[in-house]
Amino acid sequence: MGKIITLDENTINKIAAGEVVERPASVVKELVENSIDAKASKISVEIKKGGITYIKVTDNGVGIAEDDVAIAFERHSTSKIKHSGELSAILSLGFRGEALASIAAVSNIEMITSTKDKAYGLRANVEGGHIQSIGQTGAPIGTSIIVKNLFFNTPARFKFLKKDATEAGYVSDIVSRIALGNPSIAVELINNGITIINTPGNGDLLSTITSIYGIEVGKSVLEISYKDDLLEIKGYVGEPKISRPNRNHQSLFLNGRYIKSKPVTSAIDEAFKTYVMRNKFAFAVLMIKINPSLVDINVHPTKMEVRFSADSDIYRGVYYAIKNSLSNNCKIKEIETDEPFELRKTTLPIEGIQSRIVSEQDGIISNDIEELQYTDSRIDLPVQEFREDVEIYSGIKDARLVGQLFSTYIVLQKDDYILLIDQHAAHERIMFEKIRENYLNNETMSQDLIVPIVINLTYQDLKTLEEHKEFFIKVGFIYEEFGNNSIIIRAVPYGEIGLNGKEYFLELLNIAESYTKRNYSDLIENILYNIACKAAVKANMRLEKDEVVELLKKLLTMENPYTCPHGRPTIVKIPKIEIEKIFKRKL
Ligand code: ADP
Ligand code: MG
Repeated sequence: MGKIITLDENTINKIAAGEVVERPASVVKELVENSIDAKASKISVEIKKGGITYIKVTDNGVGIAEDDVAIAFERHSTSKIKHSGELSAILSLGFRGEALASIAAVSNIEMITSTKDKAYGLRANVEGGHIQSIGQTGAPIGTSIIVKNLFFNTPARFKFLKKDATEAGYVSDIVSRIALGNPSIAVELINNGITIINTPGNGDLLSTITSIYGIEVGKSVLEISYKDDLLEIKGYVGEPKISRPNRNHQSLFLNGRYIKSKPVTSAIDEAFKTYVMRNKFAFAVLMIKINPSLVDINVHPTKMEVRFSADSDIYRGVYYAIKNSLSNNCKIKEIETDEPFELRKTTLPIEGIQSRIVSEQDGIISNDIEELQYTDSRIDLPVQEFREDVEIYSGIKDARLVGQLFSTYIVLQKDDYILLIDQHAAHERIMFEKIRENYLNNETMSQDLIVPIVINLTYQDLKTLEEHKEFFIKVGFIYEEFGNNSIIIRAVPYGEIGLNGKEYFLELLNIAESYTKRNYSDLIENILYNIACKAAVKANMRLEKDEVVELLKKLLTMENPYTCPHGRPTIVKIPKIEIEKIFKRKL
């Protein structure tokens, strides 16, 4: 006797449910998407115990017609497409006709629905995929679906559920994303009786972002807008300061559908490169509109992953949309003193002064405040004042250059604020741009060493150097083998005078070791950052006025003068009012 049998409908549904219904959040996603397809303007989601025991989704959409109620729970039954030809131009969120059948197969469902054509509504009860009853009831127009005891008949799947709070977190995540993608719909999420999401539904994306992430985030986003023949992109990206250590605050929507997409996230990363710190990810809510025939959304049952036929165009569009907005809008970080400064009692003559003392004989630099009282050495007061006003052209025109503070920060005064510029961060940005440009143009980046250095390397080091040889030469090292596992270095990349060439070489070799040819572009960026850092003026370095002016002029020609290449701010703004608050002139 043969071994193959055709599975019964119930088993087929349970297997299919495994693909669509992974956890409470996936049920919520499918039900809310159905509400959106039903043209609801208000959707309310209520969950208990992370959605495991109870999920209720209520909408004010068109409702389900009496004749359709039973069939809606059958597999591959949908009102959204009629034949495969329509698959190429789908604008509705659903089309597979699987969700209700799949959810019903693994839970107990109560559905109440009402359309505008009938004076009465209908109530249906479905248990483990079997319709128990359908009867008339009074109900407002729209649909309400209660899903109870998820996975009660599939213990294996039930076991994989996480703690209630974790499952609730997943639900809240998906509801937030759907709310962001649909600013015209008022979306509400109630968890164990407490409202945790409540968007206005007024069509305005910014107010939706604010209602989900709070006022601080709402105040720190930049609008983006882009259009070409192929696609349209609208949305908001966050100022670098609200970047996160993960991608949780990046939401991408394609023709209204929440998606995940590698080309889009790479474009976001690339556009934000050198604006945000390494290992941080920018805030972004992007609405991409594209001709549906250029996208395949039928790649995955949850329809979350999509395939574009025009990957590179999407990448380019997203990249430029963000880049343009960042260079036009990226603001100087403003300091607010929420808390009054607390002055500590001290025996030192002037509070907080960290003077640098340069001994005339030997040039030794000391930060020891005690020495102030006993030495005749030249003393830099914390503010090295430049008496003349200096006019500096582009963003900060007519600013008065006040001086250098702690031999580290450049102080400018303009209108009713002061600007503090971190001289190292600012110069690092300038050097980085220059070095990168030279690198890309294959220009030499070497400085000859007066005395060549001989370095003994380990076998491992030699292998790394061999692998990255071209790169080391391109960034400015000139070296030859010197026998017995050693090399002689005759030139190093630009850098500060007096740089320890050996340490520098070994440091870069160390960085190179953790990279392979596959992530070469990361290695290049990383080494260029490093060279820029070494080449830039340091903190605690007294600068002459001309040097400061030169630095500021160069800084202001940068496309992004506001952060160093690692994303730290170069310029901060302190409004006069904040100083007045410190002195209690204003509250
Ligand atoms: P799909 O969304 O892929 O069409 P579903 O199984 O999710 O498949 O839903 C089946 C059908 O039930 C839908 O095509 C739609 O006609 C109807 N339906 C489901 N939920 C709703 C709702 N909230 N409002 C109106 N109609 C709904
Ligand atoms: Mg659906």
